[in-house]
Amino acid sequence: MPIELIDTHCHLPDSDQVEAILANCMQNSVKYLVNVGTSLEGSNKAIKAANKHEQVYASIGIYPHEDKDVSVAKLHSALEDLLHISKKIVGIGECGIDISEWENGRSIESQIELFDMQSQLAVEHKLPLIIHNRNGDHTVLSVIEKYAPQGLKGVAHCFSQDWDYAKKLLDCGFYISFSGMITYPARRELLEVVKKMPLNKILVETDSPYLPPQGHRGEPNEPANVKLVAEKVAFARNSTLEAVAEKTTSNAKVLFSVLK
Ligand SMILES: [Zn+2]
Repeated sequence: MPIELIDTHCHLPDSDQVEAILANCMQNSVKYLVNVGTSLEGSNKAIKAANKHEQVYASIGIYPHEDKDVSVAKLHSALEDLLHISKKIVGIGECGIDISEWENGRSIESQIELFDMQSQLAVEHKLPLIIHNRNGDHTVLSVIEKYAPQGLKGVAHCFSQDWDYAKKLLDCGFYISFSGMITYPARRELLEVVKKMPLNKILVETDSPYLPPQGHRGEPNEPANVKLVAEKVAFARNSTLEAVAEKTTSNAKVLFSVLK
């Protein structure tokens, strides 16, 4: 049986390169990809690409520092409107907390308000939440713990914390998604988390065009490289690419239930 992979988190460019990117996916057994929006404009574009290409699905959401001049109430109603225009929306996000050197970004209070709104939206629409977390472990966990009892599901994208934190997310029923970061020698400790993970909660992603895997650094990343991430997961768990592909793909189909 040929293997089948799903890139659960990428950002496709809005250019004529998309055809070539998708052709490369086919050659590397990547059957579907989730094209993730980070702003209203980006979410609109993610939906357009999903409507145009069979392999592409969309997630819509507002990154902590995007659309800063639009009120959270307006962003809420704009996302609600988008949810009604396509059957290929599989998730809400990426959203979450980003405490970094971002210039003119949102304050932490305002980030929480935006994240909270999108968590509610995910619960109401029974869609998984795709979470971005940079230096926001405590806040992210408190929002997840608040909504998990109401049925919130989701994934911690591009996981880069330790096993203790992974366990807390798993306790809330969350999935954990690994990116090309696990191929970096400087992040070798992440392989310990990969090894300890229950297999039924692992997802793989590229976060392309960011985070190219080791051996491709300095090049733009692309969804086809999710195969390299899956190979590294197999290596860490002393398993095979076939077994990892089969399980991570079925996990993605359970979480993003629109994917068949
Ligand atoms: Zn992303």
